[in-house]
Amino acid sequence: MANPKVVFFKGEFVPFEEAKVSVMCHGLNYGTGCFEGIRGYWNAEHEELYVLKMAPHFERIHQSARILYMQLDYSVDELADITLELVRRNGFREDVYIRPLLYMGDEKIGVRLHGLTTDFTMFAAPMGNYIDTNGIKVGVSSWRRIDDNAVPARAKITGAYINSALAKTEAYHNGFDDAIFLNADGHVSEGSAMNIFLVRKGKLFTPGVNHNILEGVTRQAVMTIAKEELGIETEERTIDRTELYICDEMFLCGTGAQISPVVSVDMRPVGGTGAIGPVTRQIMEIYHRAVRGEYPRFADWVQPVYNARRASLQVGSPS
Ligand code: PMP
Repeated sequence: MANPKVVFFKGEFVPFEEAKVSVMCHGLNYGTGCFEGIRGYWNAEHEELYVLKMAPHFERIHQSARILYMQLDYSVDELADITLELVRRNGFREDVYIRPLLYMGDEKIGVRLHGLTTDFTMFAAPMGNYIDTNGIKVGVSSWRRIDDNAVPARAKITGAYINSALAKTEAYHNGFDDAIFLNADGHVSEGSAMNIFLVRKGKLFTPGVNHNILEGVTRQAVMTIAKEELGIETEERTIDRTELYICDEMFLCGTGAQISPVVSVDMRPVGGTGAIGPVTRQIMEIYHRAVRGEYPRFADWVQPVYNARRASLQVGSPS
């Protein structure tokens, strides 16, 4: 990732080098913060950068802030305006990743959430694929997913990512690309930083929102594509570990991961052969067109940054 030129820091746009925090920063010491990850997709033909699904990401950071007693002074619309301005000021003409971050900025020692002040920053940097989209190998982690009554997974909390990092590195050491978390009760939760879907007999299954998942924006997009474009309903329910071993298709999804087909789980080829299945392929195909502003039915998923070809986003029948 190349460094950005300009970042939004404590209410203004400043050169990247000037956006610094103290070694005593509460958020750095105790992980007291919450954040988002948003993608922008460059479309060379349109000469346009499209930012994907800003509103649901900014609604989620507001929810995370509420859970953490944190003050976020910007509305969803204001956050979207800051994002567009940030990307414009950096002049990106490639795929980018945007990171809004709300953190306790106090130089104070003492673990708590009350009586502290929040600072907000947002930066963006070029980013291609976060993980392989040609088929990954995953393993069920020996680490369990954090629990709602301990560290709520529903909030995107900075400190909570030690759980993801432990699972990801264990997977790496074991020769896998990523990890699947089980909850403390032994049922499937999600990947290290992505939600999980299984296909069984043409139907989609994913753990429900009460299975210690982050309620993913991409997860919602997948369910919309499946229902509206493929006529496939998704059943949100408890998923057993061994359903991973017998399903026909499996994929992980997230802003960073996009749609990432899984070809093996715990050394068992998915669907018996390890081939990427038809439902996964169709969802990937539609998703990748939609995020670059090339799927009129989902035109409202993206926001053009430079307004190069607004007309191309007029809603019509899908091409
Ligand atoms: N679960 C976790 C733990 C994540 O970090 C992410 C990435 N934000 C996701 C799921 C996917 O969420 P989204 O589709 O909103 O990026």
